[in-house]
Amino acid sequence: MPGKPLDVLNTVFGYDRFRGQQQDVIDELLAGRDALVLMPTGGGKSLCYQIPSLLRPGVGIVISPLIALMQDQVSALHQLGVNAAFLNSTLTGEEARSIENRLRDDQLDLLYIAPERLNSARTLSLLDNLNIALFAIDEAHCVSQWGHDFRADYLQLSMLHERYPSIPRIALTATADERTRQEIISRLALDQAKLFVSSFDRPNIRYRIVQKQNARQQLLQFIQSEHFGDAGIVYCLSRKKVESTAEWLQSKGIRALPYHAGMDNAARQQHQHRFLMEEGLVIVATIAFGMGIDKPNVRFVAHLDLPKSIEAYYQETGRAGRDGLPADAWMAYGLQDVITLQQMLANSNADESHKRLEYHKLDAMLALCEEVGCRRRALLSYFGDRLADDCGNCDTCLEPVKTWDGTVAAQQALSCIYRTGQRFGVNYLIDVLRGKETERLKHFGHDRQSTFGIGKDIDEKQWRSVFRQLVAKGLVTVDIEGYGSLRLDESCRTVLRGEQQLMLRRDLSTESGKRSKGAV
Ligand code: ADP
Ligand code: ZN
Repeated sequence: MPGKPLDVLNTVFGYDRFRGQQQDVIDELLAGRDALVLMPTGGGKSLCYQIPSLLRPGVGIVISPLIALMQDQVSALHQLGVNAAFLNSTLTGEEARSIENRLRDDQLDLLYIAPERLNSARTLSLLDNLNIALFAIDEAHCVSQWGHDFRADYLQLSMLHERYPSIPRIALTATADERTRQEIISRLALDQAKLFVSSFDRPNIRYRIVQKQNARQQLLQFIQSEHFGDAGIVYCLSRKKVESTAEWLQSKGIRALPYHAGMDNAARQQHQHRFLMEEGLVIVATIAFGMGIDKPNVRFVAHLDLPKSIEAYYQETGRAGRDGLPADAWMAYGLQDVITLQQMLANSNADESHKRLEYHKLDAMLALCEEVGCRRRALLSYFGDRLADDCGNCDTCLEPVKTWDGTVAAQQALSCIYRTGQRFGVNYLIDVLRGKETERLKHFGHDRQSTFGIGKDIDEKQWRSVFRQLVAKGLVTVDIEGYGSLRLDESCRTVLRGEQQLMLRRDLSTESGKRSKGAV
């Protein structure tokens, strides 16, 4: 092993220089002291404990609640030639014993372990006889009972300090609020730890989320009018859409290249290489693109599909403007995005608690899309980072959102869902509300139904916006079977009973269209 942090960064991880406070954090641990690191997702927390684990004698013990990710992290380390392993409940007894043997033989540099596993008497007696480089407590906010990620097993981690007083500890989190920070310090006995706080704000990035109409066309317009000839990344959900979007942009004179995990390796590598080396290329990609990409002059990141979480959105948009010059984060979003993501979640094989967490994250992402105040404020507050004033550099600051009292419209929409049996999708429901006499509608007898035509004075676009916001607010859910039919959520009752006033966002896109007086 080479001897200096920078050498390890270069030779093992293949990066040129440290980012932000990485070097300082690493030095602190190498000096044998504790550290508490608050850094945004994607900020590069892992290297802060990985490099000292390689440089200090013994094995670095990484405590993480994210069992699902351990396998990936360890595989990635293997590819770099690092001796790493994990211990969690997914292993068979035999596999676990083999890893314990490697630990005893001092063959590992990094061990990822779930907190409940660490707390067991068996593991602790194993650790007692090992040479340990450091303890890294990842997702340290899990120790906070106020946060939504509380894990009882984290509380016991304070024993590390008592049991192994001379071994440096590093706690890491992407949650930055003061209360959580204080809780981490007191519960993990980190009062001696040096605090490293990175701001989450990327002031040079201008956030903008527009309503989807013809997304491709809107994207082209955005690129042509604001970023012609600039380097940029366009994110799409599916490989197929990546291909078709790249082709279409090319046909419109934009130098665009596709990138996704289904392409053959050589082509993919070549496109990535060209994007990094040439100027003014647009890469159209799935989220497979970007891990470790460090191109300073990416002028825009565009999303044609909704990211699954604010963490993902922040990380992906964060690839813009690393040089500190003005850059744009642009996204087009619509009801179908919400439906697609909710269906993907519902149909995934993840266990219930994991699904619940994912829903929670998606809801937060939707709330950001529907935000009527400063977009940056909302984004940063999600990470516990408070902004004193509105930013003046996001869409809602530059062009304040208008709201309207949508209570009656919402009641009409909700009753329409209810009275048609909670079996239909948004297009059908809008037809009923607007009193359109289609064959299908007549076939079901819905032209004789009491909500037929009651929403004539609101145009189609605005109805879409109403339904989208009802879904985003969780008042309406999307059928999990995959047909996109809408159902009422328990929580919509207060609206139906008139106990809750509903202020809705007036989409800019519906402003320009013909507007009827009933909608105001
Ligand atoms: P976090 O745990 O804070 O979310 P990660 O440790 O996963 O972030 O790092 C995010 C991405 O940034 C990874 O792809 C990582 O390889 C990359 N990265 C981290 N540090 C550097 C660096 N100094 N130079 C270039 N890329 C880096
Ligand atoms: Zn703002």
